[in-house]
Amino acid sequence: MSEPSIFTRILQGEIPGEIVAQNEHVFVLRDIAPQAPVHLLVIPKTQRYRDVAELAAGDPALLAEVVAMAGRVAAEHADGDYRLIFNTGAGAGQTVFHVHAHVLAGGLEEKRLVG
Ligand code: 5GP
Repeated sequence: MSEPSIFTRILQGEIPGEIVAQNEHVFVLRDIAPQAPVHLLVIPKTQRYRDVAELAAGDPALLAEVVAMAGRVAAEHADGDYRLIFNTGAGAGQTVFHVHAHVLAGGLEEKRLVG
């Protein structure tokens, strides 16, 4: 069994964190260093998947739950439009190896990444 991740420790109440939604399988944490007016992390409660590629291969239904929860919280915390980012690998900026989706929302029209 690996050490609990920072997200698991927050979920278990060992470390403070603002959890804004949860269900049986996923929870949503407000990012401590927001990169957009709304910056939330949708995180499976299990830490067995390190990144989105492992999650997609190992439990696609859980990945679908992550995406569904992202849409729900983007509607609750912003206007329903959102950018969904999975940093995958240290070279892409991933720092926490407990898969999580960044939900960025609110006033992103001028901050285009692609296109
Ligand atoms: P990554 O770089 O792995 O894609 O994303 C990790 C995210 O977790 C970062 O955006 C970072 O700000 C956030 N984060 C790291 N530690 C904490 C923490 O203790 N509390 C909260 N709420 N967010 C954290």
